[in-house]
Amino acid sequence: MYKKEMNKRLDKRSDLIDAFYDYPSGIRDQIVYLDPNESILPEVIEVINSFRYELTMSFENDEGEQDFLFTNGEQAILVSQSRKLGAIFIDTRGTDGVIEQVLSHKCLECSSEDIVESILHAQRSEVDEKLVEMGALDYLGTFDRLGVPQPNYRCKKCGFRWHHLRDMVRKDRSVLYKTLLEKSNQDLNC
Ligand SMILES: [Zn+2]
Repeated sequence: MYKKEMNKRLDKRSDLIDAFYDYPSGIRDQIVYLDPNESILPEVIEVINSFRYELTMSFENDEGEQDFLFTNGEQAILVSQSRKLGAIFIDTRGTDGVIEQVLSHKCLECSSEDIVESILHAQRSEVDEKLVEMGALDYLGTFDRLGVPQPNYRCKKCGFRWHHLRDMVRKDRSVLYKTLLEKSNQDLNC
């Protein structure tokens, strides 16, 4: 019976947003893809489905703006495609963070794992500075698109950019630095 209610098409966008916020709250996270090509949305949906989240509601307006609400019965994921803003927004609350890792730690456009994270210049540590020198980290440049958060990931291969909210938090990268340093030392010794 539950299946029969899958993908209810709503007339009002606000009903879908309300439904998302009706799910229990938890740590909020958001991923935003900038200037996505046509293959990104199906790819995002495939990842979400692979975690056993199913589409329960959708909405589409005349301008081709689309919203999708996925749920596993306990948590919900909101996917919104805005052609006007040139972005796809993925909002989660209370998930364990694994889906977000899958969606943000590889390029969804070209599948490359050669991606680089950007951080606020003012938040850099000494280790961060060394990582920037090594090309393993970037500083956030200027970005000005109203309604779209600053991208903090970039694919080195194709230039695709995206924002991952939880990764904007300042973190200790000394383990990453040590790993990269050991790897480059090994390469030198070979
Ligand atoms: Zn790419």
